[in-house]
Amino acid sequence: MSKIIREMPSYYGDYVCTGNSTCFDVCCNAWVIPMDKEAADRFLNYPGETGEYLRSNIFQDDKGDWFINLGSDGRCPFLTKDDLCDVRLKAGEKAQIKICDVYPRERDIRAGYYRLNCLMLSCCEVARIFYEDCGDTLEFIRNTEETDEPEISPELKERTDILLSFRDGLVDAIQKGSFDRNLFEVHESVGSITKILEDAIYFENNKRSEEVFERVRSLLPDSDSMLPFFIKEVPELKKWIRKTAAYIAHRNLLDTFQDGSIEGPLFSVFRSVHILLLIALAIYDDKGSFDVKDMVESMHIFGNIFEISMHNISLLKEIRNRAKDEEYPLGENSEMRPYLYP
Ligand code: SF4
Ligand code: SF4
Repeated sequence: MSKIIREMPSYYGDYVCTGNSTCFDVCCNAWVIPMDKEAADRFLNYPGETGEYLRSNIFQDDKGDWFINLGSDGRCPFLTKDDLCDVRLKAGEKAQIKICDVYPRERDIRAGYYRLNCLMLSCCEVARIFYEDCGDTLEFIRNTEETDEPEISPELKERTDILLSFRDGLVDAIQKGSFDRNLFEVHESVGSITKILEDAIYFENNKRSEEVFERVRSLLPDSDSMLPFFIKEVPELKKWIRKTAAYIAHRNLLDTFQDGSIEGPLFSVFRSVHILLLIALAIYDDKGSFDVKDMVESMHIFGNIFEISMHNISLLKEIRNRAKDEEYPLGENSEMRPYLYP
């Protein structure tokens, strides 16, 4: 027996998938949906016509992994015209694929005696709750739980204590504005951000996301001069960005336990915010205005690309050393970018 600390954001219990009622970008499309082995077995053994229907819409890759075969419109073939899930409707809740059941929740992210449950901001409804419903700063609920797991070693306990106290201090400082210069002054070169956007994997068939990233690429060379103006024009942006950075720091610094490095997770916080600001700028540039709904959409678009794919997350964490920098052209674009904080 041992004790663990479980933490979750205060809004964790408020989330319900709004699916076919108000969700503005139902997530059952545009990405290759992997199946867990148990779900694949259930589909393969499901009897009758429903079984045939389930099997006719999945495929196996060269490595033997099973996926849902998206339609030519990019939609999951099990998504009905009313945006309901036909797997649930026809085969019941227990037949559901794990990722469909779990998303947007991330449960049990572990660090020593600590477990975090959180909700991915790529989900439209989670992002809406995050920016619209739950105040200007992040709040958390912490509970102690008894588990059957063995007691961790004193060394691991000490490492967990240090990491959590460092992370919580950072989150607090971000929320109080102590790192505004890091959030709003961009230290990444245009070349470096261009390379991340080039190397990232994108969902296919998501026209809105493609359009926004296209605009981000075209604005990048002038973004140094555009961002300070944008930040000044939309005063609420600072509180939204601080809160987002606090959320990402709170989540990503736990990766230090797996990555064995603090630099990568720290890089990911400030780099994520930079790319998010560019997405927000692209939406503002297109519309000529920017409100909380645009912030929700910006985070949704960012999260779809940079919150889920491990490949893309690793791009955010990549430590660019001198040798790597040589890949980027020297000159104006590789200079440290000027302050964006007006
Ligand atoms: S994005 Fe979120 S709210 Fe929308 S369908 Fe997916 S899980 Fe539900
Ligand atoms: S199987 Fe159901 S929940 Fe999963 S992506 Fe398809 S429609 Fe959505």
